[in-house]
Amino acid sequence: MGDVPFLDSFCAGCSRSGRPAFSLKQVQCPHCACSGTLIRHSILYGNDPDSSAHQVKRGQRVLCSNRDLRPGCGHTFPIFLSEVLPRHTVTATVLWTFIQALLAGLSLRTAAKNLPLALETFYGLRRKMRIKLDILRTRLLGSRSPPHSERSDPLLATFELLSTLFAGNACPLAAFALRFQISFLD
Ligand SMILES: [Zn+2]
Repeated sequence: MGDVPFLDSFCAGCSRSGRPAFSLKQVQCPHCACSGTLIRHSILYGNDPDSSAHQVKRGQRVLCSNRDLRPGCGHTFPIFLSEVLPRHTVTATVLWTFIQALLAGLSLRTAAKNLPLALETFYGLRRKMRIKLDILRTRLLGSRSPPHSERSDPLLATFELLSTLFAGNACPLAAFALRFQISFLD
């Protein structure tokens, strides 16, 4: 399989300032802040939630090269496709489908029905998102105060905000990863 396209990837720890990077050449190493030293390494695979027999491409390791007198640090780090939530089997698309069902007023049990993961997984994910709510809102809003929301549940109000801020994106969670260079669940 071919390289992971950087345009659709994010890299935790890479510089988040300025415009989003469109190629690896524009990215600074998260270890030593060098740029122009990064080269692609092995592809990262993981379980496919839609098929237990299947492995899917999740990202790629990148090497900050110190070979041939290059000034890099020799460390590697992973970049992930925007669809991937590192350390979780659930994909951004599946999680967003679940979130949309919660926003539509469905119970967790009904929202998780027909999705390719166990019910307990979704209970765990909702718990995790609640714990991270303050960090999420700060990331989404900076120091601005949140817009008025009819939602009394702060988690649903945050999901609604996400949907507004990333309106027009097929998956706001993937758009979040590209915008902030960090997984929605990190
Ligand atoms: Zn480096």
